[in-house]
Amino acid sequence: MALRSIFDASVLRTEFENAGINPKFIPLIWKNVLQNPNCKWDEIPSLPAAAYPLLNSKFLPLSSTLHSVSHSTDAVTSKLLIKLKNGAFVEAVILRYDSRLGQYGGKQRPGGLRSTLCVSSQVGCKMGCTFCATGSMGFKSNLSTGEIVEQLVHASHISNIRNIVFMGMGEPLNNYSALVEAIRAMTSAPFHLSPKKITVSTVGIVHAINKLHHDLPTLNLAVSLHAPVQDIRCQIMPAARAFPLEKLMAALHLYQKNSQQKIFIEYIMLDGVNDEELQAHQLGKLLETLEVVVNLIPFNPVGNTSQFKTSGEAKVKNFQRILREIYNIRTTVRKEMGQDINGACGQLVVTEQDRLLAERKGLITDIEDLHL
Ligand code: SF4
Repeated sequence: MALRSIFDASVLRTEFENAGINPKFIPLIWKNVLQNPNCKWDEIPSLPAAAYPLLNSKFLPLSSTLHSVSHSTDAVTSKLLIKLKNGAFVEAVILRYDSRLGQYGGKQRPGGLRSTLCVSSQVGCKMGCTFCATGSMGFKSNLSTGEIVEQLVHASHISNIRNIVFMGMGEPLNNYSALVEAIRAMTSAPFHLSPKKITVSTVGIVHAINKLHHDLPTLNLAVSLHAPVQDIRCQIMPAARAFPLEKLMAALHLYQKNSQQKIFIEYIMLDGVNDEELQAHQLGKLLETLEVVVNLIPFNPVGNTSQFKTSGEAKVKNFQRILREIYNIRTTVRKEMGQDINGACGQLVVTEQDRLLAERKGLITDIEDLHL
């Protein structure tokens, strides 16, 4: 049997239970790996005797490796390129925020810095959004629970991670069981992240949204809506055909009724496609009975997604004004790619991978893995 990540929580728990080992030792093992990812199982004290041969024969401390880290010049973002056991690459992005300065970045002071980690859930993505470079790559594989949690382990050695957003590569709700299990691991010892500080971003997988509140009650939900009517959604997000807007909105109303939480709405602004006044009014009407925050995202052309153009600033501002003033909807505009983690999934990841690919051309033998 291939060795599994120690953070593949349900596999580890089942193995322990089958061997008569109390699963209460799992947090202790994870704590040791978090402190020292290169630890040997025999170096962890106080485990039951039966645990050592089991760990040695079936589990690795980490199944992925941190291939490289690049920091933005202002030290606000760090991008981690992580190589999985199967040779594929995913990226996780750290964004630093100093709450006492009230702005991203700034001078670091002890205790004042909070970091958000943007996590990938899949290699590639099958949703095929036409404005997204990840979508154009197609779907390669789901990440395991361990591969998702290991992104946090790698990042924790670089920054003090307090928030998680599932906005990296992939549609998290298409990898539902690994996602739920990974979040449960992240919110338990030794990570102890607050579920309120974890956000899952989805294009709107209706049946999964309907389960989410039950499985992860205090999670934050972000929905990549991107259009206020079904025909425009289908045009730019082919997967929307399977999830009619009417059903998605019903799922969001039910989710909010059960969770009592705000829902974050992501809306990428595509010139002449979804950024007209008509669409602002349609969006306002669609959302006015929900408690939402809308994040307007000026499109950033990446790779072969350049069939679209970025909406002009005046159009974006007018769109924001209509939502705010006429429909009383809290609406923000993302300023710059890399300055704000609340982007649509996929885009940031591939942008950086492309850059790394260009930089390393000819230097690594498995370069085509970056194209996946
Ligand atoms: S925008 Fe998100 S869901 Fe759509 S193709 Fe890209 S990664 Fe997948």
